[in-house]
Amino acid sequence: MSGRRRRHRGPVTPTQDVAVRIATMRALVHDNARDVPGVYRMTSVDGEVIYVGKSKTLRTRLLSYFRAKYPRDKGARILREAATVEWEPLPSEFAALLRELRLIKELRPRYNVALKRDARHHAFVRVSQGPAPRFDVVRGAGTDETGTYYGPFRGARQLEEALRELNDLLGLRDCRPEQPMFFADPPDLPPVPTRTPGCIRHEIGRCLGPCIGAVREDEYLARFRTATEFLEGKHDAPLAPLRIRMEASSAALDFEQAATLRDKIRRLESLPEQFGQLRFALESLSFVYTVPGPTPETSQAYVIRRGRIRHEGPAPCSAAARHARDARLSEILDPTARAPASVPGHEVDEVLLIASWFSRHPKELRRTTPIGADASALTG
Ligand code: SF4
Repeated sequence: MSGRRRRHRGPVTPTQDVAVRIATMRALVHDNARDVPGVYRMTSVDGEVIYVGKSKTLRTRLLSYFRAKYPRDKGARILREAATVEWEPLPSEFAALLRELRLIKELRPRYNVALKRDARHHAFVRVSQGPAPRFDVVRGAGTDETGTYYGPFRGARQLEEALRELNDLLGLRDCRPEQPMFFADPPDLPPVPTRTPGCIRHEIGRCLGPCIGAVREDEYLARFRTATEFLEGKHDAPLAPLRIRMEASSAALDFEQAATLRDKIRRLESLPEQFGQLRFALESLSFVYTVPGPTPETSQAYVIRRGRIRHEGPAPCSAAARHARDARLSEILDPTARAPASVPGHEVDEVLLIASWFSRHPKELRRTTPIGADASALTG
């Protein structure tokens, strides 16, 4: 098969009834599709892309839709709504996976729930921006593509507990993102509420109270920065007062209180530990991954940095081509930058896809080489 991408579209019109449309699509697939990797999409009579899928064996996969046994089967429901089927052969299963992900993000077909379901198995710490930024634990990456995420983690409940301790310790808010904030310092102060809205965290000393003008904005942001640095493993300053209180309780023979504080400290210590493991896991997903295609010209090289694809193109087959590619890479990659544990919201799905690919296909790691390795390693 040549590496050129081809699309096939059924010659159907909106007026055809369902049975004719399905028969036409089936004949089209039967006569033209081949068992090669690729992506496919189903489009409704109105032109809406309703489903995007991928397969290692396009023809077999597409024909399976026409064998759905029950009308309620997902495949049967998609077919009843579909007016056209298109497919695009790609040089490898990995290329098909990536293409599927990108098409789903771009087109958001309503039958594509599988990826979201996968992501919901994982917990993320989301950093919401705004005048008083906050942390929360979410399952799946959600749709907030502007936020910053740390994850994926397993064990959402423990993560929630530990994060609640951190919020309480540093006085950070954990209310809904839309809650209006009123800092103590703006020059044109609007009427500030005198009571926190249905929340007693400020009254009991667990929140600085940015909703009632009880804290200056720079003070709140400094506390938030302390929390972020703690999570990133830069220091453990938030734990110091807890340790002093634990020792004091112990010295006063209040062992119950000392044990409570010890457990609290352990839960908090687990946060930077988990974040450190995450940073390490992300950093280990940094290499050049060369995926052979059906012909040497269709082999692709993916430059993956911290679980995200930074560059992709035909695998260089000479030292000169490799040097040209590396020169371009040096412009976009800074090898000296410290690895953050965070992932921008719009890249979370890609990180999950790449982590899951190499965990399901560990032998594929043999096709990887460190970024900047010599040309023979890249093309071998
Ligand atoms: S005290 Fe105010 S800012 Fe703090 S969590 Fe409660 S509502 Fe939010």
